Amino acid sequence: MNKILINGKFVDEHEATVAYNDRGYNFGDGIYEYIRIYDGKLFTAREHFERMLRSASEIGLDLNDSVDDLISLVRELAEINHVSNGGIYIQATRGISPRNHAFPTPPVEPVITGFATAYQRPFKELNEGVSVVTTEDIRWLRCDIKSLNLLGNVLAKEYATKYNAVEAIQHREGIVTEGASSNAYAIKDGIVYSHPTNHLILNGITRQVIKWICEDENIIFKDEAFTVDFLKDADEVFISSTSAEVMPVVKIDGEDVNDGNVGAITRQLQKGFERYIDSHSVS
Ligand SMILES: *Cc1c(COP(=O)(O)O)cnc(C)c1O
Repeated sequence: MNKILINGKFVDEHEATVAYNDRGYNFGDGIYEYIRIYDGKLFTAREHFERMLRSASEIGLDLNDSVDDLISLVRELAEINHVSNGGIYIQATRGISPRNHAFPTPPVEPVITGFATAYQRPFKELNEGVSVVTTEDIRWLRCDIKSLNLLGNVLAKEYATKYNAVEAIQHREGIVTEGASSNAYAIKDGIVYSHPTNHLILNGITRQVIKWICEDENIIFKDEAFTVDFLKDADEVFISSTSAEVMPVVKIDGEDVNDGNVGAITRQLQKGFERYIDSHSVS
């Protein structure tokens, strides 16, 4: 039986229900994180929870928990569920209150829920690469907040699924922003390009790890926006996220990227990522 985290308690899955007037349910009024566990260790958990506290603060949500509190909470969640390889989802909403757009006054207690899922790394896709499609970015202008409001992302991902692709790379008037649930990169003449981390993209922790790997390996990383045409004409393309890691893209809108094979720099970044898994986990 899965144990679900609800406000500091671990409850059986069938008893894990939330209120009809939780603001997360009514308005998507909350934020979340998704953290990877490799061999029983939380990967870059500190970075994830620092981002979670930032997301909360950007929407005026006061969480009573510190980064260390949150780390011990999800560690316990993983242990109780015997998940040593998999992921942890955790979210916080502004709480339960009669439906009214403005914040409750006085504030109510946030509702924190989470669950742990066991799964293996996507080795086949990491090795062979995946297909993506491109689509217009219709999301709001605070994509830097990991918000529960994901309708734009949901519609983009559904579009990708309909066209047998694993991800939709979004663009605003031809400028690539990011995937529905991943960051996007183009490599041209040995340089890795990715949209600057402003209000138009989510600042991925995996993106940060990739920047560290580039520093280690003397690969030039540019926080620089590029067009859909540049993406399609790139030497190599990949996406990144906590679950997808460094995921090669070999087809965009049905056309091969370069010769359709996974490129050398993408492979180098994947190797570098393995080293970070070994060295950067929080036990
Ligand atoms: C979570 C997320 C990412 C990836 O972030 P990671 O911290 O690397 O998992 C990228 N884009 C969006 C829209 C996301 O929600």
